[in-house]
Amino acid sequence: MTIPLTVSDLRQYEYCARIPYFTHVLGLQKRRPTTYKMEEGRLEHEHVNLLEERRSLRSYGLTRGERYFNVSLFSPVLQITGLLDMVIVTGDEVIPVEFKNDLHNRVGANHKRQLAAYSLLLEEKWQLPVNRAFVHFIPTRQSREVSLTQETKDQLLIQLNQLRVMLEREALPDATSKVGRCTDCEFRNFCPDIW
Ligand code: SF4
Repeated sequence: MTIPLTVSDLRQYEYCARIPYFTHVLGLQKRRPTTYKMEEGRLEHEHVNLLEERRSLRSYGLTRGERYFNVSLFSPVLQITGLLDMVIVTGDEVIPVEFKNDLHNRVGANHKRQLAAYSLLLEEKWQLPVNRAFVHFIPTRQSREVSLTQETKDQLLIQLNQLRVMLEREALPDATSKVGRCTDCEFRNFCPDIW
């Protein structure tokens, strides 16, 4: 049976392969309580939705399009679910938009992977091409365009397959080589080999 996954799993897999191992194989995420910071982030996203409804599409370089917020997505083909902050549908293309809390307007490799996953889910749902996305940064109120090429989508499918193989084997993967990511990681107590 195909292991059902989320877009967040793919983003986290790019960040550190151990995170989806901990959440899927050991079920650790299910025990995590909702923290004050998480609740604060949820409220902030709701506030941005209200602001975004009044914002002109011209800030995305568009003259027309319909906006949809908190869009639930599911691909029966890929067995992936996702919840996207915003979608713009122009009639000849669909554009995913993610809201992020980053003061430096950075789009990391894990976020690009996340947007590539959304692009596949949106193409399946709307039957329209997805060739680009936007990341809207909440603190600076600026947006950055991210190109979504066929190569990016093909890479995503390869990584999706690698992730499922790793989960089926149930073998602890290597820790991330970027040790700076471990400092604030909520799973660091489960990684004694990194200290
Ligand atoms: S502590 Fe480091 S190695 Fe362990 S899960 Fe977190 S990021 Fe990965």
